[in-house]
Amino acid sequence: MRRHIGWIGAALAVLTVVAVIGACSRGGEPDPSPSPVTTKRFVRARPARDPTATPTPSPSATQEPRPEPVLEFEGPSEEQAPLPPPPPAFGPPPPAPIEILHPPPYTVVIDPGHGGPRYSGAAAPGIIEKDANLDVALRLAPLLTAAGYRVVLTRSGDYTLTQFDADTAIERRDEIQARVDLANQERADILISVHFNGSSVSSLRGLEVYYNPDRSFGYFNYVLANSARHSIVTSIRGAGYDVVDRGIKNDALVGGDPNNPHSWILGTNNGFRPSMMPGVIVEALFMSNYLDVEQIKRPEMRQVIAEGYRSGIDAYFAWLQSQLPAPTATPTPTPTSTPTASPSVTPAPLPSDTPSPSAAPSPATPTPSPATSTTGTGRKPN
Ligand SMILES: [Zn+2]
Repeated sequence: MRRHIGWIGAALAVLTVVAVIGACSRGGEPDPSPSPVTTKRFVRARPARDPTATPTPSPSATQEPRPEPVLEFEGPSEEQAPLPPPPPAFGPPPPAPIEILHPPPYTVVIDPGHGGPRYSGAAAPGIIEKDANLDVALRLAPLLTAAGYRVVLTRSGDYTLTQFDADTAIERRDEIQARVDLANQERADILISVHFNGSSVSSLRGLEVYYNPDRSFGYFNYVLANSARHSIVTSIRGAGYDVVDRGIKNDALVGGDPNNPHSWILGTNNGFRPSMMPGVIVEALFMSNYLDVEQIKRPEMRQVIAEGYRSGIDAYFAWLQSQLPAPTATPTPTPTSTPTASPSVTPAPLPSDTPSPSAAPSPATPTPSPATSTTGTGRKPN
């Protein structure tokens, strides 16, 4: 029954997405006629790695007039879906340059969704998604830096990395390609795409996190998605807003090319150089719901959301640390420490919900003693 509704909803979603604007979380539909991405037209230098930019409570003003408020459909139309089953744990090792299961410091690439005058995302009166995304990202970056991460933003202002002459599928693909290339060049450990949702169904509200279970590191995507979801929901509720937890979702749910329906940023679509690290698309609240959008407009809530992201990232890396093989010199009766996460997983012991300054992925985390040697860590050669 629910599944039935889900399929209908998904079908409607696809139609709506195609007919209206296109899902922001997809970042454009795959091009059925593969025209390989050859040249990128960078109009800006790569964003500075400076994550110390102070949060801007009111997002940076643009020189260009603000576009008309338009609701953008981003999510599936079904109400709260059950959690999808986790993908099989630990598929075949991914090709370079990804490295997982290695000691800190970790590199986090934060992608504030959309940007620039022609790539705005969802909107509501008085607020545009691209600005809210950037604001949350600029709040998150210093939190992560203070916790010991290396942070790279795909954009640190209101611009795109590519020319982006018009909001077309091809332009979105090229823009997201530039951001994915950046994440790969930076050898990011994780890629966090920061979004807010939008729907033509104004009653839809809440948080959903998209991940791709079909990558070789799909299990890591799953853990990252569930960590982010859990922590952000907890953070928002802790601030007094009873956010709806819509769960984690396969990023192929939004629709697109039936042969390869995954999002550009998380998928392996034809003619696209895919992201090579675990990643998620977080849609924290709906711009199109009157309750949610009032929260998005509050700087205090955007800070709370950023802190939720930080906690979720901490939780993911604490879990990752727990997967590190134990030091070889200590024969213990404990079971083998090779990554044998049980298939019935809920991503195992997530750290406390309350953000704590000591929750950084440092050796202070209550995990097996840090592997200081690179031998036997499963680290892939560069
Ligand atoms: Zn978006």
